[in-house]
Amino acid sequence: MKAVYIAEPGGPEKLIFGDRPDPEAGAGEVVVRVRATAVNHADLAIRAGRSATGALPRILGLDVAGEVARLGPGVTGWKEGDRVVVENRVKCGTCSPCVLGRDEYCERQKRLGGELDGGHAQYCKVPAANLQSIPEGMGFEEASTFPLAGHTAWHCLVERVQLQPWEDVLIQAVGSGVGSFGLLMAKGIGARAIVTAGSDWKLARAKELGADEVINYTTTPKFSQRVKELTDGRGVDVVFDCVGAPVWDESCASLKPGGRLVITGTTGGSQIPFNLSVLQGRPLTLMGSGARSRRSFAAMMHMARYGALHGVVGKTFDLAETAKAHEVMAGRDFFGKLVLRVP
Ligand SMILES: [Zn+2]
Repeated sequence: MKAVYIAEPGGPEKLIFGDRPDPEAGAGEVVVRVRATAVNHADLAIRAGRSATGALPRILGLDVAGEVARLGPGVTGWKEGDRVVVENRVKCGTCSPCVLGRDEYCERQKRLGGELDGGHAQYCKVPAANLQSIPEGMGFEEASTFPLAGHTAWHCLVERVQLQPWEDVLIQAVGSGVGSFGLLMAKGIGARAIVTAGSDWKLARAKELGADEVINYTTTPKFSQRVKELTDGRGVDVVFDCVGAPVWDESCASLKPGGRLVITGTTGGSQIPFNLSVLQGRPLTLMGSGARSRRSFAAMMHMARYGALHGVVGKTFDLAETAKAHEVMAGRDFFGKLVLRVP
């Protein structure tokens, strides 16, 4: 089969578009005929050797959407041709957290496209337990945006900070994959969404998608003042951040007393001096993320099926153009997700 893989870490030139053996479905597994696979910042980290891959060569691709092609022994409830999207993390099912129904904390979890071969290929082997069906009317390209970016935003807003309809949320970098999903989920929940981005065309796009208020953090670097103006001096209940260091102080300053901040990315940098008196004088809750469950993946896909939650496809590429997609991802001049079409 055709696939995009790395044999050694490095720049985009290390991505190889070539032939790899077809995977075989073991017990409890299916082989998915991949039709679309999105690109993530995590792919760039894996390619560069900053994130674990296990033994090389490794087929990249954390997001998988396609059709069930082959069923392994013992798989029930699915048939060949079913349109599916795949939860990215493979859980062991037998460790204490798994047995206790908290598979997000599985002690032996691995990522498709990280420690296991992923979706930048014509076929990908996955556990049947990771499958969700693609909602009727949704294409493969859109579906492929859900497993990483969608599930991350859902995990942060629904599981972690538990955003409520009567709350104000500040969403950083709304043009990113998780930022655009965060906006659509916040509006689906019914909250008021104040969003930031570094360029006006992204903010205009966010308005089209339902953003209540927009702030350009390039022209308004002290954006917490604008947040206060927009909230009658209170600040927001929730900050959803995937940028990190450059916006940290202003994110904290944007929160009202009792506010919650959840961070899921540090694409702008991860090291900052932090003034602890911010917490001494203000009852804030700062939350990490990561560790997502099959339970919340199923919950999110329920909203995609019945609650009109959509994925935003920014640009599409052919699988053979993965290196170009990585360069566009690094340049950040797009809105939503970058998706690869698989031949
Ligand atoms: Zn486990």
